[in-house]
Amino acid sequence: MGNDGGSIPKRRELVREAARLPTASELKATALESLTHAWTTCPLSDAPLDFSNTVSDWRGRLYNYESVLQCLMPSSSETPIPETQEAEFSRTGIKSLKDVVKLKITTKRDEKGREFAACPVSLKELGAAAKSVYIVPCGHVFAEVTMKEISDTEKQCPECSSSFEDRDVIAILPTDEAEVEKLAKRIEELKTLGLAHNLKKDKSASKKKRKAEDAKENKGNDEQKEKDKNGIASRINNPMTASLTAKVLAEQEERAKRRKIADGYKRSEAVR
Ligand SMILES: [Zn+2]
Repeated sequence: MGNDGGSIPKRRELVREAARLPTASELKATALESLTHAWTTCPLSDAPLDFSNTVSDWRGRLYNYESVLQCLMPSSSETPIPETQEAEFSRTGIKSLKDVVKLKITTKRDEKGREFAACPVSLKELGAAAKSVYIVPCGHVFAEVTMKEISDTEKQCPECSSSFEDRDVIAILPTDEAEVEKLAKRIEELKTLGLAHNLKKDKSASKKKRKAEDAKENKGNDEQKEKDKNGIASRINNPMTASLTAKVLAEQEERAKRRKIADGYKRSEAVR
């Protein structure tokens, strides 16, 4: 047609092309591409992941800490948060800072000066090509093979020597069905224990239990809260992030206080 040397595909050819399933290697390439993207980009802000300021949720997904803070405290952000970001954030299920763990990622530079995440023990590059895990609550990140080599009796973080449970080794951006399932089971188990992803007490999760234990735990909680605050603040060196964190923590505390007052009111009503 048109003598231009091109040809218009016939319907039969078009149908054949559309119906063709992607080959295994094409599928693999797409999966690797999206995994690489998830390892390098914050899904909330679409900004490059900052390995010195990365957090992860119970699913092993990675976010920039700042983006999570901004979504938790939209009012404190100077620029309004785009709707797409808000929608993406609500899909994550992150409700408080307890739902994420700050990661401690070792970074190295190659000869070209490119910075990459590395396993502090094996020095392997971490990312889409190497399965990686992190430990809750300390947040240290390792290659999966490194963690497998740790003997069953030790169960201590190779970096900070804090002990941990098997359950709390979180696969980063897992692609295996079994790994995803394991993480889902873990968070269910934690919920029944009244714990959040970071293993801190999740007050909203076990209301009944909380009421029973409220009275005797109040003192300890306050002490723990003080410790948490100091702990988080001391790990943040960026002043903007630090002040935002303080705001989020203050807001969470305020909310908890209001809830406590409301609960107390309800209880005294019941007595009357
Ligand atoms: Zn550690």
